Amino acid sequence: MSNHLDTLLQEQRLFEPSQSFRQQANFSDPSIYDRASENPEEYWAEQATYLDWFEPYESVCEWDPPHAKWFVNGKLNAAYNCVDRHVRKGKKNKVAIFWEGEPGDSRAITYGMLQKEVDVAARMLQSLGVKKGDRVTIYLPMIPELPISLLACAKIGAVHSVVFGGFSAKALRERILDADSKVLITADAGYRRGKPIPLKANADEAVVDTPIEKVLVVERFGKDAGIEMKENRDIYWAELAAKVSREPLAAEPMDAEDILYLLYTSGTTGKPKGIVHTTGGYLVGANTSLRSVFDLKDDDVFFCTADIGWVTGHTYIVYGPLSAGSTVVMYEGSPDYPGRDRFWDICEKYGATILYTAPTSIRMFMKWGPEYVKQHDLSSLRLLGSVGEPINPEAWMWYHEHIGQGRCPIVDTWWQTETGCAMIAPLPGLVATKPGSATKPLPGIFADVVDEEGQPVEPGNGGYLVIRKPWPSMLRTVWGDDERFRNTYFGKFEGVYLPGDGAHKDKDGYIWILGRIDDVINVSGHRIGTAEVESAMVSHPSVAEAAVIGRSHEIKGQAITAFVTLREGVESSEDLVAELKQHVVEKIGAMARPEEIIFTAELPKTRSAKIMRRLLRDIAEGRVLGDTTTLADPSVVDELKSRYKESD
Ligand code: ATP
Ligand code: MG
Repeated sequence: MSNHLDTLLQEQRLFEPSQSFRQQANFSDPSIYDRASENPEEYWAEQATYLDWFEPYESVCEWDPPHAKWFVNGKLNAAYNCVDRHVRKGKKNKVAIFWEGEPGDSRAITYGMLQKEVDVAARMLQSLGVKKGDRVTIYLPMIPELPISLLACAKIGAVHSVVFGGFSAKALRERILDADSKVLITADAGYRRGKPIPLKANADEAVVDTPIEKVLVVERFGKDAGIEMKENRDIYWAELAAKVSREPLAAEPMDAEDILYLLYTSGTTGKPKGIVHTTGGYLVGANTSLRSVFDLKDDDVFFCTADIGWVTGHTYIVYGPLSAGSTVVMYEGSPDYPGRDRFWDICEKYGATILYTAPTSIRMFMKWGPEYVKQHDLSSLRLLGSVGEPINPEAWMWYHEHIGQGRCPIVDTWWQTETGCAMIAPLPGLVATKPGSATKPLPGIFADVVDEEGQPVEPGNGGYLVIRKPWPSMLRTVWGDDERFRNTYFGKFEGVYLPGDGAHKDKDGYIWILGRIDDVINVSGHRIGTAEVESAMVSHPSVAEAAVIGRSHEIKGQAITAFVTLREGVESSEDLVAELKQHVVEKIGAMARPEEIIFTAELPKTRSAKIMRRLLRDIAEGRVLGDTTTLADPSVVDELKSRYKESD
């Protein structure tokens, strides 16, 4: 990947941490980077003191590539660390979760209340026969019973496997079978723009001929959901809750290496993998990143807009902020319901101090325009985060100006389901940010950019993103398929973790993620990262969002096809096509000139809202579409296929 383009590296804007932010930051001593790289075990051992351990560990890390153990023989419990210990330490009446329902109902759940509800739920699971090590599949909307179910599993040592509530019956079934779960927790239905999502009906279809013996059903929608309850299999949450003991329940002492959860990757690139996370290392990683990247303080109100069905919600709604005894905001529904200002209304209502969202949402807010933001007082915000995809520099600037009002540092956090927590991100009190770059590996993380031989690239060059040393919250394996774990993540460079993303390193050592290696386009020998061309497109005032792919081309090897969504009020035209092509040429160079531009109202996204370029390639090359089960809205593909024909 040496023959790269370097437009992103021409980004000159630099944002230094303000004096006032720097002074109050948790991580304010720049020597932390050197100390952690000289002695990572000491650094992680220091971070581990922020958790309560029932029994101390004997060694920090044992590395037998590709298998790592962290905090060996230490005993702890994740739910105890997220709930019980805070109640013991005087936070009984502190709000743990501000929950906002889509129709406008809300709950403020204190740590004291959370403890009671988690214990009841844990006893319910026990009464259904769930034991330590058993898997429980959870298919719920964003309601309080979702984090409560995770913590209830953790409390008794059961392994949770959350399946995002937007997934189909087929996708749910696949994940139940793979995890071999005996119990499923679901709801009658969830809300999406006021309408029901038929979770229970999907669950009924999914569990046939699976090991599921019991289905626990939360009543969210009520009678209108019109569900059927199957005798001896299905039971209502409230009904069972009324039957179990209200006595406090002791937390199960878990080994640091006992599995905390399975989570299937979002499926942007193919068949989902059951990523295995264990208890001690994962919790240390999650907890540390809240204090370092998010500069979390006791009085912060942390609003992470992700769904708990994704790893971002696991780490940044549940295990990270709650292990730190913080207050989180959890929202059930759609950002445009009932109005396009819903997020801003929530920020204002709860006085959110930290907002963590995805580039796809930011581009949507840009498309809608800033007037919805202006209706609300966002002065409580002090830090903004981004995750999920490379953030286009123009989206970064918009986030900075309109949401952060020029005041809030932005932390662009690169990580994956597999890494458990943020890996490449600025420490906001120490690192100057550049729009579009996730900046540097966090202390104790050995990320680098290497060439085909595994050698570090020279500053200014591109290559494979790798992580050279183990870290506490790394995946331990792929559930039931250690071979796939070895091949996928350690198959290219011996003992070195390969995330599958391409990246550049600039002269200051900053890392710029260019997108997935599989998506890199090769035009006449020039290797072009999707993020570069897409960011160039998005920097045009008419464009809201863009996805580019390489289509086979007789002469050039590949030619670029760009799929473009326009900002509201902009009409597509032949002139605009020519203008956009020219815009890319000016920004990057002639080799990146898109051969064709297709306008579309929507881009195909995964249910975690990431652009699915694999499908766009299939469409452009007229192939039979591959796995589409993780697609959020299948109708987008039909629409695109017909548009593609029109443009031929
Ligand atoms: P699958 O692995 O099943 O194809 P997925 O990779 O979309 O699904 P996730 O673990 O949710 O599943 O996403 C991680 C990926 O998201 C990263 O590998 C990277 O490609 C992208 N990503 C996440 N955060 C960032 C970021 N801040 N900048 C650039 N890319 C990011
Ligand atoms: Mg991935």
